[in-house]
Amino acid sequence: MSSRLQGKNVLITGASSGIGEACARHFAQAGSNLFLAARRQDRLDALKQELGAKYPSIKILTHVLDVRVKANVNAAIDFFGDIDVLVNNAGLVIGLDKLEDITEDAMDTMMDTNVKGLVYVTQAVIPGMRNRNKGHVINIGSVAGQQAYGNGSIYCATKAAVASVTRALMHETVDTAIRVSEINPGLVETEFSVIRFRGDKEKADSVYKGLVPLNGDDIAETVIFVAGRPDHVNIAEMLVFPTNQAAATSVYRKP
Ligand code: NDP
Repeated sequence: MSSRLQGKNVLITGASSGIGEACARHFAQAGSNLFLAARRQDRLDALKQELGAKYPSIKILTHVLDVRVKANVNAAIDFFGDIDVLVNNAGLVIGLDKLEDITEDAMDTMMDTNVKGLVYVTQAVIPGMRNRNKGHVINIGSVAGQQAYGNGSIYCATKAAVASVTRALMHETVDTAIRVSEINPGLVETEFSVIRFRGDKEKADSVYKGLVPLNGDDIAETVIFVAGRPDHVNIAEMLVFPTNQAAATSVYRKP
């Protein structure tokens, strides 16, 4: 599999932490060139230094990017150049609040990052993929996009939007060799919950109490698997949970 990913140009958004950072490590190991984007430059620099020393033959470019700013997105894609694999991973959740308590700011941040940001990046990358008639867009959705839960309305809505955008893009690219995939994780222990609870680590840890959560590597392994299939194989969708947790969701209780 790794020979299929060798030399591929892989753009990962949200590469400074969690799933995105783990994806960077796994693609580097597979011999891919890395285009790493996020807002925290120090994190990207440290990752570039570490992986550059370990895998000297791969190219690693970093770009500070806030996916909410379309002009910033377009500048980053111009800087990176041709992209073979886009991992649309940047995303976040703010708060665990009833719909009536969600602030406008939290709502805007989630919508602008998880939906509009993902769309901006995809809009900037797809024309090049169409011209070359190849490429792979891998969107990181969430189980929250398949099943809404209380106190998660807006985050769930953003991930449901990611699912719709992914499916529509699949239809729009059927006359091309572009592949479009969606990976929907649940319960991955990263900085995700710390950000959700605005830095309250104790509250964040309580989310994973009594279970063995997934980690960034678990999801990166699925991303690598999906990206590493032969060109004629597209894994459209994956739902990935910690063991025994899937049965607890209503995804599997649909009529
Ligand atoms: P982390 O908080 O560890 O990582 C999130 C990444 O997104 C960071 O690298 C962050 O970088 C980046 N990011 C956030 N906002 C922006 C922005 N405006 N512009 C650019 N980058 C941004 O969480 P995860 O690794 O867990 O999350 C990755 C994805 O996985 C998200 O889309 C999340 O919704 C999804 N997911 C996570 C689950 C979980 O349980 N953890 C479950 C299901 C889905 P920086 O702050 O440097 O910009």
